[in-house]
Amino acid sequence: MKTWLAAVATALIVTLASPALAQDGRGWSLAIHGGAGVIERGSLTPEQDAAYRAALDSALQVGAEVLEGGGSALDAVEAVIQVLEDDPLFNAGRGAVFTADGRIEHDAAIMDGTTLDAGAVAGLTRTRHPISAARAVMEDSPHVFLIGQGAETFARDQGLEEVEPAYFFTERRWRGLVRQLEREGLPVPARPEGAPAEGAMATVTPPLDERKFGTVGVVALDREGRLAAGTSTGGMSGKRWGRVGDVPVIGAGTYASNAEGCAVSATGSGEYFIRATVARDICARIAFGAAHPQLAAADLEQRRAWCETRAAEGDICLVSQLLPGIAEARAEIAEVGALGGEGGVIVMTRAGRVIFAMNTSGMYRGRVAEGEERRVAIYADEED
Ligand code: ASP
Repeated sequence: MKTWLAAVATALIVTLASPALAQDGRGWSLAIHGGAGVIERGSLTPEQDAAYRAALDSALQVGAEVLEGGGSALDAVEAVIQVLEDDPLFNAGRGAVFTADGRIEHDAAIMDGTTLDAGAVAGLTRTRHPISAARAVMEDSPHVFLIGQGAETFARDQGLEEVEPAYFFTERRWRGLVRQLEREGLPVPARPEGAPAEGAMATVTPPLDERKFGTVGVVALDREGRLAAGTSTGGMSGKRWGRVGDVPVIGAGTYASNAEGCAVSATGSGEYFIRATVARDICARIAFGAAHPQLAAADLEQRRAWCETRAAEGDICLVSQLLPGIAEARAEIAEVGALGGEGGVIVMTRAGRVIFAMNTSGMYRGRVAEGEERRVAIYADEED
């Protein structure tokens, strides 16, 4: 049995590895995430599982339309994140988590890989689409990062849509906050002004464990070969003292560089992603591999040998484990894990190759590329 399996596994490596390794320069490509965390089979009802898959799929469709129509990677990133910000399933825009004092404060960032231009915002409370505020900072201000009231004023002056803070309210996140504060023995704030009366709002899903983070992010490559990345979040439930996570910190939760051939969006416990400078490090590692082909080739040979050993033992070594980029992303996530953090990343290479890496049991994620079907996945062990 083992010998038979080994033969199949080896064949799989040989037949799948070559075309996959030669996929450079094939048109546009897009990948998304909707947060990582403790997401196990059995912790989602079939309805919740289906709702997340449908939401990810529609977001992918929006991005595919932009890129298929010749739109830029930046346009695709913004359009897809707007859709996810409007969806109460995710911790971004409508459906974002609450601070300990019962407010919602949004953080977002966007980056253009061709110019290294970037824009970020933190602590927004009224701008409907924080990702668009981040883009406005990038394109219409001399700055990179605006926070709080000033950022909100800037967004308003740019004509971006504003909503009442209660627009972002969801019963599910509110219940999550109340439960968390009670558990931590902290005071529970009054129900936010303008929120629907208790019981009046249909909960899309029952309250879920807040260790499912729910931030959203997109990485894209357009037909012109331009890379872009964007991320948007309400941050961590119960955050205090003006806490800001990794999402709007360029190089931590968000980064894109055509020179390095890489775009990254992260999700997870932001404090660790900031310290490990995750997004930039992945790009730097990828660029280093590309600049030192002999090292990259040796590394690839090592990975092939590792796969063959596993195959000899009867395991199937996934072809993705051979691809450049995966080792870099995994090394970064391992670093986050070593510090005590958890989460995941999505990576787009200049070849349009998508890499998902996580140290959690799940990450809502999906991808689509020119001429290919849309694919979504949730659990860590699911094919993506
Ligand atoms: N990284 C985000 C933060 O720390 C949270 C998340 O990814 O859900 O603010």
